[in-house]
Amino acid sequence: MSDIPNTPSQAALDFIQRQHKLLIGDQWLEASSGRTHPVLNPSDGEQITTIQAGDVNDINKAVAAARQAFDDSEWSRIRPVARQKLLLDFADLIEKNAPLLAEIEAIDNGKSAVIAEHVDIRLAVDFLRYMAGFATKIEGRTVDVSLPFMPDNQFHGYTRREAVGVVGAIVAWNFPLLLACWKLGPALATGCTVVLKPAEDTPLTALKLAELALEAGYPPGVFNVVTGLGHEAGAALSQHPDVDKLTFTGSTEIGKLIGHAAVDNMTRITLELGGKSPSIILEDADLATAAAGAANAIFFNQGQVCCAGSRLYVHRKHFDRVVADISDIAANMTLGGGLDATAQMGPLVSAKQQARVCNYIDQGRDAGATITTGGGAVDRPGFFVQPTVMVDVNQQSSVVREEIFGPVLVAMPFDDVDEAVRIANDSQYGLGASIWSNNLSEVHRMIPRIKSGSVWVNCHTALDPALPFGGYKQSGFGREMGAEAIEYYTEVKTVLMSI
Ligand code: NAD
Repeated sequence: MSDIPNTPSQAALDFIQRQHKLLIGDQWLEASSGRTHPVLNPSDGEQITTIQAGDVNDINKAVAAARQAFDDSEWSRIRPVARQKLLLDFADLIEKNAPLLAEIEAIDNGKSAVIAEHVDIRLAVDFLRYMAGFATKIEGRTVDVSLPFMPDNQFHGYTRREAVGVVGAIVAWNFPLLLACWKLGPALATGCTVVLKPAEDTPLTALKLAELALEAGYPPGVFNVVTGLGHEAGAALSQHPDVDKLTFTGSTEIGKLIGHAAVDNMTRITLELGGKSPSIILEDADLATAAAGAANAIFFNQGQVCCAGSRLYVHRKHFDRVVADISDIAANMTLGGGLDATAQMGPLVSAKQQARVCNYIDQGRDAGATITTGGGAVDRPGFFVQPTVMVDVNQQSSVVREEIFGPVLVAMPFDDVDEAVRIANDSQYGLGASIWSNNLSEVHRMIPRIKSGSVWVNCHTALDPALPFGGYKQSGFGREMGAEAIEYYTEVKTVLMSI
């Protein structure tokens, strides 16, 4: 059971309505421009607070603070075991504040507070604890060398893994706290310092995280937060020559801009981008389980999930039945605001996203799709869109090829496994895919043929701190979570010593 109230608690209101600032070093500062940016509650469309609109000047200050902390501070000399303890303390504080953080996230993002607490924050805490274990296990190798030109000399060769340095982290609005923690975990475990730029639509839990990091005892400059707009604060961070590594979660379009900026400075980079992930239901699948799973794959978090199962491919024999089941689930979903504990689906994050998603539904309709349920915005305050299912779609149409990032499922039949694999792979994206089947041999034959960073079998969007997550093709570059994440936050140094 959750302790989250149905109306905002005084503690949440006190936090949300305070004058928010930027955390740079150990100081909470106003943006140098003096400008602020409004923050709305997507559940009713009302403004709830403002944040500082940081720009290049604030980013410069934050990067300088992070540089100083990385190069010459108590943090740069901290023992690994103390770094581990700090990360565990930070995770404990997040867990202790989970109901409040979940409430703030629900009011800021529109997602269910219950889900925020039991999925987003639970995963974030588990992940930080998992990463804390690596703080004492950052290891190189000793190598027995045989230098051809100095056969008579003896050598000692080894490698060191060292923290990459100042990390610029830019995140999207769909899982604000969790995405920030996916960056903070490996950065703080390895000894990096961070400048975080949260999404302008959902900046509040990042500011609360910063407060908790100071309370946990992180030294000044280790974790800095600059709120602001993407083309101002985000662009300045991605172009900053003194940032050693950029880690970005967001759209493929902005990811490419960040990639170009990173190449100019040879900044290390991880990109977690968009997706158009298929759910594939084979002939022998347990149909009730598969239909419920495929519905959850697209409607969870209002479809605002990078690896949402937004394309559904079903064996022709079962196509009508599965589409009817999913349409039925969608039609019976209870919609409600973030603090409504009975709601099964909430609003989209902004009026802009609501308009974008409705525009895609119209494009599908115009291209001849049949809408079996849903079909547009909900006539109520807030940014709600009906859970929508479309059939009679063409593999080449925009609703099948482009990421809609809302509760919209496109469904198509296939006749055999080869066709299922071909159309599943026929996408510029490659983030995730699920296969629903009881035929293990068939599934194992399919897994290597699917071009995506994750393949789920009889489940979808199942994430674990110990398993890497990331994309093939235009879904990104690099991996988050798992032991792999450590590689992306460290450099390898070779040492060769004549003895
Ligand atoms: P977005 O790319 O518009 O914004 C993401 C972040 O980038 C925000 O903080 C924004 O302020 C910033 N930004 C915008 N313009 C910028 C610029 N010119 N330079 C630097 N930063 C800039 O994405 P969004 O609409 O917030 O999020 C939705 C997208 O994120 C979807 O495509 C989704 O698939 C993707 N996503 C991917 C993952 C993953 O792990 N692969 C996870 C969550 C979301």
